[in-house]
Amino acid sequence: MLVTDSRKKGFVALVGAGPGDVGLLTVRGRELLERADVVVYDYLANVRLLQFAPEQAEKIYAGKKAASHSMTQEQINQLLVQRGRAGQRVVRLKGGDPFVFGRGGEECEALSAAGIRFEVVPGITAALAAPAYAGIPVTHRDLNSSFTFITGHEKEQVYKSTEALARTPGEGSSDIDWPSIAKLPCIAFYMGVKSLPRIVSQLIDNGMCATTPAAVIQWGTHPRQRTVVATLANLVGEVEKHKLSAPAITIIGQVVALRKNLNWFETRPLFGRCIAVTRTRHQASELTRRLEELGAQVIEAPTIELHPPVDPDRVHQALIKAARGDYDWVVLTSANSVTQVRRALQQWQLDARIFSSCRIAAIGAATNQALEQELCLRADFVPSRAVAESLADELPAHGKISGGRFSLLRADIGRPLLVQRLMQQGAAVVDDVAVYQTRTTESLPEELIEALEHKRVDWITFTSSSCVKNLVSLLGDRYNEKLQGVHLASIGPITSTALREAGLQLTVEARSPDLDCLVEAINEFSAASVAKEGAV
Ligand code: SAH
Repeated sequence: MLVTDSRKKGFVALVGAGPGDVGLLTVRGRELLERADVVVYDYLANVRLLQFAPEQAEKIYAGKKAASHSMTQEQINQLLVQRGRAGQRVVRLKGGDPFVFGRGGEECEALSAAGIRFEVVPGITAALAAPAYAGIPVTHRDLNSSFTFITGHEKEQVYKSTEALARTPGEGSSDIDWPSIAKLPCIAFYMGVKSLPRIVSQLIDNGMCATTPAAVIQWGTHPRQRTVVATLANLVGEVEKHKLSAPAITIIGQVVALRKNLNWFETRPLFGRCIAVTRTRHQASELTRRLEELGAQVIEAPTIELHPPVDPDRVHQALIKAARGDYDWVVLTSANSVTQVRRALQQWQLDARIFSSCRIAAIGAATNQALEQELCLRADFVPSRAVAESLADELPAHGKISGGRFSLLRADIGRPLLVQRLMQQGAAVVDDVAVYQTRTTESLPEELIEALEHKRVDWITFTSSSCVKNLVSLLGDRYNEKLQGVHLASIGPITSTALREAGLQLTVEARSPDLDCLVEAINEFSAASVAKEGAV
């Protein structure tokens, strides 16, 4: 039950979520989400925006997909009023712009009547965003000096009050005046896919030229965006042929013809490719961003979770030993190790000076970068390849191994190779310290399972051998069958070996074990297969 707290002032922000691409949320929208107690979100608001809200914030789906309304408008209004009264900070996240065919006006009226403070954060509306991503500038000096938004909702009349229906245009009627509209040079119809035949025939009957260029853009700004271009007369047939459905926006005007040279989004190299990323949730974002920038639709399917070390005292002892000068070398094998060491230093109220008397080796450029960013330390030695073998081969050139004292700060599943090689070469001390634990996630996201079932996944990326092992175990006995036809991309030789050992055939391996090379390998392979198919 919600208890009204009169000391706390409730506040509701109607935030435009933009058209779908997460990057199109406003800075203000993000700030409000970051401080929200409750987020009430729509069908068209990208659920990935919820990641900006605090984990403990309540997230309420208010639905609204044509015909399957999960909450009525009245219920939504009441919910906002009720949460505002209870003193909560509410974000009402609405697809596109809250006031453009979004019933945001009605929600504000309810808040105002209840005396609840509110704010409206505009969002990028579909009629601007979808054409922009389809390569259609909605105005052009030579072609049109106005651009009109219209709702094409087929139930327009049903949803209006009798009072509204009785009003004339001058008094604020919301009826569509077809003879005037047919004269406009550029129009966007929202919610108009089902009623497209009616819209097109009204326009032509009222004098619009049947050869006017027109486009329908479905899921604009999403990686699954699809665009159909035709003349006004052919539009309905083309949309049916390509099976476009809601949410889609229709643009009618000469500017549509400019798309043939300006289509920048749908021509990105990985556009339309569905790629699953199996790294930890924390690490996925960097790879996701790079793949999305190339146009891919990314499914984040973490197979590994990181947990605090099983034996934190052993980590503490290793840090104390480093501080006492008991090690000649400290070896960090991943960016995660660096993060965990930073946490341990904080936990034990130590700082990076404990490493002042030892030298530091980092496996991989990302590990070295993490050292610099998180601890302001620079590695004394980074082997030429980001694998333990390379470190073991090259370290002797940087210092004597025999009699040396080493501390390996790494995951609990580190391979024994490094310890063995250092011991073989006469190291006096090799402390192999697990600074974190890795565990297989409990399950795979529904989105990946479904996409695999429908054979919609083009690629899966693997950035470690444990990603391979964990995915195989999460997919179960029939993993080979489930991965049939999916291209597998590996970050390096060890990951590739794990794939082969699981009886899987890899498609590409990164030239050198880093994210840039992994993305490049996928990109090159896709470009080569597109060229082979003769597609554009
Ligand atoms: N407030 C929203 C519009 C809500 S009405 C805005 O400002 O964009 C819902 C309609 O918006 C859909 O039926 C469709 O016509 C359009 N729409 C919303 N998001 C869209 C998208 N990503 N691509 C194409 N059309 C979209």
